[in-house]
Amino acid sequence: MDIILLGPPGAGKGTQAQRLVETRGMVQLSTGDMLREAVAKGTPTGLKAKAIMAAGELVSDAIVSALISERLDASSDKGAIFDGFPRTGHQAAALEILLDERGRKLDHVIELVVDEEALVERITGRFTCANCGAGYHDKFKLPKVEGTCDVCGSHDFKRRPDDNEQTVRTRMAEYRAKTAPILPVYEEKGLVRRVDGMGTVDEVAAAIDAILDS
Ligand SMILES: [Zn+2]
Repeated sequence: MDIILLGPPGAGKGTQAQRLVETRGMVQLSTGDMLREAVAKGTPTGLKAKAIMAAGELVSDAIVSALISERLDASSDKGAIFDGFPRTGHQAAALEILLDERGRKLDHVIELVVDEEALVERITGRFTCANCGAGYHDKFKLPKVEGTCDVCGSHDFKRRPDDNEQTVRTRMAEYRAKTAPILPVYEEKGLVRRVDGMGTVDEVAAAIDAILDS
């Protein structure tokens, strides 16, 4: 079972990928992580990538493909979750070849869909106790006594500076730009399945399981 998992920041993609790794023995192939790891370990591809990045250039499709190829051969996984790759139609074609060479194929492209307005509301309302870290929300979970942490009684609260509307909207726009080139490719192949990413972690997990077990 090989899948691509897509979802904007805030859709819980990382949590769901981690769960699939733990419950199904799948391997998460995050190209960003793989690149850092290959460079750190000094593999032949890592050394090549390091030289290119040191020169301030973007790592090519060929190098990313080589990394994925190495990982697919090295792991006795029960399926891969591709994360951050492919990003272009060209890379999508390369992935198809990589999998085909190993008698594998892409089974699903699962997109966690979020409602942008709801996401803005969810993220911008978050704040935490500065003392104990307890989480609160302007709309959904205010302290029982105004200005006082339910857990530790502290009166100090803090907000993350990037939990603001502009940041959320920028990240959503980046996500759309990133997936726009590949979604149509997979739509055409009938591989795209959409899951409501606004549900609880368990609800989203159940929806993903239903697709994988279908
Ligand atoms: Zn507290």
